[in-house]
Amino acid sequence: MSEITVVLPATEMNQLSHELRRLTREILKAQPRRRLWTGMGGADGYGVEMDTPVFTMHPHDENPVCNCGAADSEEEKPCAETCPFGWPNFKHKPSGFAVHWHKWIGRSMEVVGAPPTEMGAMIDECISSLVQVTP
Ligand SMILES: [Zn+2]
Repeated sequence: MSEITVVLPATEMNQLSHELRRLTREILKAQPRRRLWTGMGGADGYGVEMDTPVFTMHPHDENPVCNCGAADSEEEKPCAETCPFGWPNFKHKPSGFAVHWHKWIGRSMEVVGAPPTEMGAMIDECISSLVQVTP
């Protein structure tokens, strides 16, 4: 499967960052024990490790370890999406829309796939799915 990286206008990137931080706050409200650490990105600036039927979120990992074998492979191949080396920091499963960031939300952010018309509605859907996960 080939991935298409889309460059969003700055205003849309800002809105996306805002929505991803809102999602982070809602996850932490529902599951406070998942809080990592805070720094320059703020309490809601890094994302939280989370997987629901609707979305996955992974904070930036400074030293990701490949678990799919691609890093040790003789041939050049990209890591699987389930591998810490290759996974996006956020993925909306129904649409496939995904976001990569560096260290904190908003920094060197890249999106994969077309963004939803209503980013707020997508994040609302993600928030609604939190009840399906046991803390
Ligand atoms: Zn890998």
